[in-house]
Amino acid sequence: MPFDPTTPSSSSSGRLFVVSAPSGAGKTTLCKAARAHLPELVYSISSTTRAPRPGEQEGQDYFFLSEAQFRQGIEDEQWAEWAKVHDHYYGTSARFIDRHLELGQDVLLDIDVQGARQILKRYPSAVTIFIMAPSMDVLRERLVARGQDAASVIEKRLKNAASEIASKDWYQHVVVNDALDVAIEHFIAILKGGAD
Ligand code: 5GP
Repeated sequence: MPFDPTTPSSSSSGRLFVVSAPSGAGKTTLCKAARAHLPELVYSISSTTRAPRPGEQEGQDYFFLSEAQFRQGIEDEQWAEWAKVHDHYYGTSARFIDRHLELGQDVLLDIDVQGARQILKRYPSAVTIFIMAPSMDVLRERLVARGQDAASVIEKRLKNAASEIASKDWYQHVVVNDALDVAIEHFIAILKGGAD
């Protein structure tokens, strides 16, 4: 058969990375750094029913859906995983993941612990990474300093953080975000396939 570069063989399938972290652990910063460093890495944009935060853009940060639209997606089996996080629905497009993996491109999912479990069931070779702040006190300080959420929302996020941290043991990699540059280096090394 003649060589056709547009038809990837199954062995050239991309790798799927799943990163989870309690809010405030620095996941967004780490993901941004990784994307700048590894421009070929495809970042999956989730859909959510939560309202956009100031500065967030449709199709760039999330696809912002109504609850009816999201539920329709569940019915249509659009989501590779979905979960209710902090009272809102979040989901990852199955078609998006499969298309890029088939093209041989690595895909990064930034999703919560419930979603990560579903992805591992569906894609058993996914590489899972958990990002942690060095302590709960630091986590609280970061959430307050971020100034994005009301006090009651911060308390809720901290409660969720405690239960998410309890799940970190089944992730293959744990990155402790204490010194940011060290954490970025560790994270990128994992995505390149050369770190514990
Ligand atoms: P935020 O509202 O702060 O952007 O995200 C809240 C949480 O939802 C974060 O833990 C984030 O990783 C998670 N999240 C974002 N997108 C998805 C998704 O598609 N699926 C799941 N399960 N969680 C998501």
